[in-house]
Amino acid sequence: MQNLKLAELGKDGKRTTIKIGDIVIGEDFVVIAGPCGVESEEQTVNTAKAVRAGGGMMFRGGAYKPRTSPYDFQGLGLEGLKILEKAKLKTGLPIVTEVIDPRDVSWVCEFADILQIGARNMQNFSLLKEVGRAGKPVLLKRGMYSTLKEWLNCAEYILAEGNMDVILCERGIRTFETYTRNTLDLSMIPAIKELSHLPVLVDPSHGTGKLSLIEKMSFAAIAAGADGLLLEVHINPCEAKSDADQQFNPEQFAQLMKKIVKLQKFMQEKAFNSSIISGDIK
Ligand code: PEP
Ligand code: MN
Repeated sequence: MQNLKLAELGKDGKRTTIKIGDIVIGEDFVVIAGPCGVESEEQTVNTAKAVRAGGGMMFRGGAYKPRTSPYDFQGLGLEGLKILEKAKLKTGLPIVTEVIDPRDVSWVCEFADILQIGARNMQNFSLLKEVGRAGKPVLLKRGMYSTLKEWLNCAEYILAEGNMDVILCERGIRTFETYTRNTLDLSMIPAIKELSHLPVLVDPSHGTGKLSLIEKMSFAAIAAGADGLLLEVHINPCEAKSDADQQFNPEQFAQLMKKIVKLQKFMQEKAFNSSIISGDIK
């Protein structure tokens, strides 16, 4: 692809892997789970414990929330980051959290293991440059109106600053469809694998906005070759201050995780080597 110097897949086919604690993103299938927003210590720590118990490998939660309305819950800011630190202390799970302002980057780095750049900020170039200099892995979500080329160029902004630890995340795009919150574009997974060495995750929670659809889209993401999933989980979804309709409760998450682990293992060990995929079925 034109203009991609660092994000492009090289002739050697070598792919980026990123080690965070015991997990190697790009090698191990990773499930990052947690609430949309950090709302209180009790809600966050209890959700983190549930994520861990259910088999989640990293904990996500927004302390800074980019909301459509200025009157909606904006996140707890620094207080939220301190709560995330407590959640990490109690569970050992690495923390993924969003940064929305270049002025907050060094600050958020004190608490986060992975910096999330949300869909609304994908093309915030000063923010991309800042996280490119931050020395922390970056999870770059696809902008809701962005093409693959624009998305990869935003990854290039981060890489060009010397930060090679970039993870992409497909979270759906705006289309004419209104039944789902977004249209989850799973064709991006093999497309990215074709063009880039960067790992790519799928976020079916924001991608569909509907709890009933997330399980099947998680399975589809695995079949498409995703390196992992981002899932919203809340200790009590009915009371969530944001995205209440798409957050699993702990029990639902644990059930889904059992199926995810089985399918992912099957895909890895059997499906691609077996007659199922090679088309030899009689
Ligand atoms: C989120 O992950 O909570 C979020 C706000 O996602 P997105 O930027 O994809 O809308
Ligand atoms: Mn959310």
